[in-house]
Amino acid sequence: MSPALNFTHDPARLSWIETANLPGADFPLQNLPFGLFTAKGTKAPRAGVAIGDEIFDLHAAARGGLLPISVAPACEQEILNPLLALGAPAWSELRARLSELLGADLQSARLRAQSAGCLVPMSSAQLHRPVHVGNYTDFYASSFHAANVGALFRPDQPLLPNYKWIPVGYHGRASSLVVSGTPVRRPRGQRKKADADQPVFDACEQLDYELELAAYVGPGNELGRPVSLAEAENHLFGVSLLNDWSARDIQSWEYQPLGPFLSKNFASTVSPWIVSLEALAPFRVPAFSRPQGDPSPLPYLAGAENERAGGLDVFLEVLLSTPRMRTSAAEPFRLSRGRFSSMYWTLAQLLTHHTSNGCNLLPGDVLGSGTVSGPDKMSRGSLLEITRRGAEPLRLPNGEERRFLEDGDEIILRGHAENPRARHIGLGECRGMVLPAGP
Ligand code: CA
Repeated sequence: MSPALNFTHDPARLSWIETANLPGADFPLQNLPFGLFTAKGTKAPRAGVAIGDEIFDLHAAARGGLLPISVAPACEQEILNPLLALGAPAWSELRARLSELLGADLQSARLRAQSAGCLVPMSSAQLHRPVHVGNYTDFYASSFHAANVGALFRPDQPLLPNYKWIPVGYHGRASSLVVSGTPVRRPRGQRKKADADQPVFDACEQLDYELELAAYVGPGNELGRPVSLAEAENHLFGVSLLNDWSARDIQSWEYQPLGPFLSKNFASTVSPWIVSLEALAPFRVPAFSRPQGDPSPLPYLAGAENERAGGLDVFLEVLLSTPRMRTSAAEPFRLSRGRFSSMYWTLAQLLTHHTSNGCNLLPGDVLGSGTVSGPDKMSRGSLLEITRRGAEPLRLPNGEERRFLEDGDEIILRGHAENPRARHIGLGECRGMVLPAGP
């Protein structure tokens, strides 16, 4: 079951923290995303919740007796995994309490003063990767992305026959998941030009990004015990932005027959705030409606609740800032817009499929959605698709051209959810700048 609506989603509720009430703010009272930060003058990272331009220090709140007993010990840890392991009823209890403490309708002057004492300005804090990620799996859940990429390599058969039956994925690398703002070094690797006799080992010439969401596993499952589709969302805590950096020239030489390897594992960037599935409850939509003639999912991937509300209506965008644009103080250029509701497979289907053989997931494991691309040209979530692997260079407003990323380019992912019945909430930003290849 997906989380239910309750008073924490009421769009009319405001916070006594004024920056949370600004129109279009990413972090209003209705969002309350979780992260990990270090404040000035402290050493150990602490769990926190973003509210306006402040961080509510969960460690301090737990120590001060402000939080429910069921979650307080987990909120005092130096990593979010223990909180993720608690499960939906505990998360929901915590969210209700935070909404109460930070709401403008809080009556108790004492509680307000105590809560105000737990605030840390976000601008003065260092944000970290919010969880220890034991395992990172990346899927390929957009049929539009799969078809765009497939068309470049197999014009006669863009989508392989398994695509509409099985959520395709591969095991990624958890150790190189970095938080937004971490520079990304251009990788070196083995690549071979189509007309060359043999490969060379050199700096990647086709560096790319991929616009994705990361889903964070909450309570894990026991080895050998699959998670049914009906149970799947009880094992999902929330989502953040994810940039799955990709070295296309290394990828095309190495990927057969076992799939991507060094072309993908040199860095993947996540945004620092995890927006809970409960916060996203007002933005649930039906699962993607399969085109006429597509097969129905096999029974273990099918369910009425998933069809009714398995989708997430999250808007995503990618922006590029080049060194020359920064020198001239030009705004970053929007490369694409995506909509997560266009994904062929839902997050619940990805998790259920992952565990269907008995594979055990752990709290904090990351499931990458795969590149979010849509049916139209403005919704292609990678340069590979936008420039058709460099064949159609992109012309930027200042006259620069890009086939792939150049040194000094910064990629910025943003995301938000909105509809007339809910308060706008944001996922924040996921940034990464390309550094030249090392020696
Ligand atoms: Ca990917």
